[in-house]
Amino acid sequence: MESNSDIKRQLSDMLSNRYELDFVDTIEEATSRLMKKGVYSAVLLDAFREKDNSDGFDFLNEIKRDVYAHPPVMAIMEEYDSRMSRRVIAAGAEEFVLCPLDEIVLCNRLKNVIARSNIFNIDSTRYILKYDTLTGLFNRHTMFMETNKMLHNNSDNRFCIAIIDLKRFSLYNSTFGEHEGDLLLCKVADLIKYSLRNTSICTYGRIAADVFALCLPYDKEAITEQLLMIKKNIKNIRNDYIVEASTGIYVVYKLNDTIESMFYKARKAANKQKTEFIEDVVIYDCVMEEMASNEQLVNNEMKRALEDGQFAVYLQPKVSLNTGKIYGAEALARWIHPTRGILQPSTFIPIFEKNGFISKLDFYMWESVCKIIKRWIENGIEPTPISVNMSRISLYNPNVSDMFEALIQKYDIPSKYIGIEITESAYMDHPELMKNTLHRLKQLGFIVMMDDFGSGYSSLNTLKEFDIDVVKIDMKFLPQTDNKEKGQIILSAMVEMVDSLKIESVIEGVETEEQKKYLKDIGCNMAQGYYFSRPVPVAEYEKKILYKCS
Ligand code: C2E
Ligand code: CA
Ligand code: CA
Repeated sequence: MESNSDIKRQLSDMLSNRYELDFVDTIEEATSRLMKKGVYSAVLLDAFREKDNSDGFDFLNEIKRDVYAHPPVMAIMEEYDSRMSRRVIAAGAEEFVLCPLDEIVLCNRLKNVIARSNIFNIDSTRYILKYDTLTGLFNRHTMFMETNKMLHNNSDNRFCIAIIDLKRFSLYNSTFGEHEGDLLLCKVADLIKYSLRNTSICTYGRIAADVFALCLPYDKEAITEQLLMIKKNIKNIRNDYIVEASTGIYVVYKLNDTIESMFYKARKAANKQKTEFIEDVVIYDCVMEEMASNEQLVNNEMKRALEDGQFAVYLQPKVSLNTGKIYGAEALARWIHPTRGILQPSTFIPIFEKNGFISKLDFYMWESVCKIIKRWIENGIEPTPISVNMSRISLYNPNVSDMFEALIQKYDIPSKYIGIEITESAYMDHPELMKNTLHRLKQLGFIVMMDDFGSGYSSLNTLKEFDIDVVKIDMKFLPQTDNKEKGQIILSAMVEMVDSLKIESVIEGVETEEQKKYLKDIGCNMAQGYYFSRPVPVAEYEKKILYKCS
């Protein structure tokens, strides 16, 4: 590269029958070609003609940054100059040859340079495959393999897997820059290494960007103390920012579990600490075990269950506080499981939301409700409106209003009997899409309801901007303080505010006589809750409305 024409010709004559040659005239072009990794075996650099201010050094400096990727460099020197040769080698060239070029010397050195670099590459590839190049700890793959080996070779010992997961690491990165983020990870790695300095049988590694794992013999007190110490030291890494970490432990009781699932469980424990703000170290326990096995069961069985009609609509009445009469209901899903009994939504809805199946269940519920209303009309029962729940995923389907339209056409029922409950937090995620969907649903005549108002970032704006008919306020989202009055003041302010926007409000989660009285006092008319009725099978609801008792 960077050849004068005489050198170019000589190189061509001597090398072109053995190598494919590519000549470039400038350093910029050379660096840009080298971006194409893996194309070149070596660089011949003829750019050291001006002794002190040579382009060649800039080039060497430039490519040095990319430690593992660049091919070896052989410098072509005009004449032997010991100071210059030392500088060239120190700057990163692997070898040099002198002019006039000698074919045998040139070919030999070039061959050796390429061979040496291949060995280096194999070594560095091995290193990259095994270790995390940033912290020098085991990478995820190695951590899993080595831990598995260790557990099986020491099956008499009881081990535990501990996870240290840095909280809000991406915020740290964006606040202090990626370089500082890298430094933080290295410091955490050092703390872990230090903490395990006296443990003879153990493994540790970085298994995801900001997640570290340790596996060591289990001693509940010792490991708890060790993790708390690491956490404390992590907190003290900076004095202008508190770096927090969540930690979880999985105790390995049996080896027939896969290694991936053991680490997964340890991470679950760490996540539990993250989401539930538990101070200490969380140990994966039988409750979590049960949750994990429930998740697996639900995942395996949900499709069959839907096809077999195992999901049922339960209806919870909505009651008028003035008249005591039922004026509508909310449809809530129950899974009538052949062996596990009646499963509540909390055991399956969060899993469906995670795996996407919720949109199938939603549609099933909507259609079931249409069928119920159709049947009532056919049997001469005056229908009470029924509201259905719409999950976030269904809401992001731009065709969802068409789906509702198609349903009422198919069953030939008026849209006014169907309410659609959308949880408040969904409104802000895709405001434009939401606005269109709600507008369309309202145009079609459905009752649009904002569910769980007050649970998230409630704002007057949300109420003003979206076309909403009814707001549902859940008592359980009111602040649970000793000072009951506070909760009541907030509630009455919310009701008043909603009312002033000409939106109706329904208070749900009403459990006591006292709550009912208070609601009446503040001018609230519609309520739903265990005090009036739990969600009941459709047949039971029908009896209630037919006999008009609440
Ligand atoms: P949600 O939409 O807020 O439904 C109200 C929940 O509060 C229901 O729980 C209901 O049984 C419960 N509840 C009613 N009155 C009281 C009370 O007085 N006290 C207390 N503590 N709770 C009361 P459920 O049936 O367990 O449903 C839980 C959640 O699961 C629902 O919350 C809803 O978000 C979701 N869900 C239920 N069915 C469906 C469905 O078909 N589709 C979708 N997407 N979500 C559903
Ligand atoms: Ca609801
Ligand atoms: Ca609700």
